Amino acid sequence: MCFRVAMISLHTSPLAPLGRTRDAGGMNVYIRGLARELGRDGMYVDIFTRRSQPETPTVERIGERIRLIHLTAGPVAPLPPGELFPYVGEFTRRLARFAQDDEEARHGYDLLHTHYWLSAAAALPLANAWDIPHVTMFHTVERLKAQQGLASATPDLPLTPAQLIRIEHEGRIANSVDRIIVSTDHEGEQLRKLYGLSACHMRVIPCGVDLSAFTPGGLCSQPFATRDDRSFSAGDLLTRLENAHHEARATLDARLRLSGLPLLLFVGRLDPIKGIDLLLESVASMNIPAQLLVVGGDPQRPGGDPEIERLREWAGKLGIGDRVYFPGAIPQAELPTYYRAADALVVTSRYESFGLVAVEALACGTPVVAAPVGGLTSVVRDGENGLLTRWRSPAAFAERLDELLTDDALRLRLRAQARPSVERFDWRRIGDRVRALYAELTTARRHIAACSCF
Ligand code: UDP
Repeated sequence: MCFRVAMISLHTSPLAPLGRTRDAGGMNVYIRGLARELGRDGMYVDIFTRRSQPETPTVERIGERIRLIHLTAGPVAPLPPGELFPYVGEFTRRLARFAQDDEEARHGYDLLHTHYWLSAAAALPLANAWDIPHVTMFHTVERLKAQQGLASATPDLPLTPAQLIRIEHEGRIANSVDRIIVSTDHEGEQLRKLYGLSACHMRVIPCGVDLSAFTPGGLCSQPFATRDDRSFSAGDLLTRLENAHHEARATLDARLRLSGLPLLLFVGRLDPIKGIDLLLESVASMNIPAQLLVVGGDPQRPGGDPEIERLREWAGKLGIGDRVYFPGAIPQAELPTYYRAADALVVTSRYESFGLVAVEALACGTPVVAAPVGGLTSVVRDGENGLLTRWRSPAAFAERLDELLTDDALRLRLRAQARPSVERFDWRRIGDRVRALYAELTTARRHIAACSCF
């Protein structure tokens, strides 16, 4: 018997180009990766998203047993998430109609898996009408952002009506769904306190990462700790890692005309939550002159990317303008070269619910220097695969970056331990945990249905 999942990502398509805008990053990658993993294992996954371009077909097959379905709700144009709530009801009606009319969907869905509060709000009436389990992932929570002073660019201003609506609905969703998936214990604890939820209402399942795409390179194209890698001595392993690092560095030097200075890397959406200003201040405070590659944003946009221009100006004022490069967003398939080439990935985020880029860099054998926030504390282990430093302190970041760049033994040790430290995020393992949760919820539902027949 086939299992059908209706996945909803209302505000952003899983196929949206990553890192180019503030609305496409880790969540899009997660949905794609999870759907691929479920499809590979025999489940049917329909991902529903709002149509934002007129030319997109209603149904697109995007992988084995995976369909992407665009539903028209509101203007057919890109809209920021804060403007989408008025169209949630229309999205729900369109989805219900699609499920009635479509040849394949007519068999019915076994479970709803929603991402971000708008999708969960759209799914609540459907889960009731279809009497199927509803699993959600918030990815970010407005009240937690507000607590961190991140909900508004000007933290002293009162919350906007759109933010208040979101807060109200997130509370309702948290108490109505069958399970909330959180990526770390820390996130679970925060939600538990915020909404008075019991621990069994949540399931901690970390995000998965494609470990066959993100590798340290060199001889190794398979996950690193598998195959015959164990037969290499520690010295051989380091030589291979260093060779792959130098090879990638030569490629980037030629492509971007970098100088010979040590290379620090940022990868992500150019969003204030990522603390890129702090990163620039940290680089400017270092004793060792280093160059910084800021991957993200869209410099090809007509008129340029205002956030890149603002950061470029800030780098200039800090006196490091000639050492900071803004190549724009890079397709994920090319990112392994960037990670391998870097001496460290630096994550100065003010908050991260998980932090996929940290896992991707480690999977490529590159140490991570990070702020101890959110999910990063479950990925980066100080002195093992990277360095953790004080939050929001450029001086503390600068000190740890100097330490990493001057201590060769430390850097090599972190490099050697990077890949093994993230094998646990392999999609197969994470997929098993998601499947186990689905099975548990659908079995429980069938059991209740059977009991209520008497
Ligand atoms: N990403 C990318 N190209 C870019 C910038 C980002 O492919 O130019 C991807 C990156 O590989 C990662 C995701 O976008 O998988 C960012 O996820 P993360 O969890 O680090 O941040 P979020 O977007 O969730 O805040």
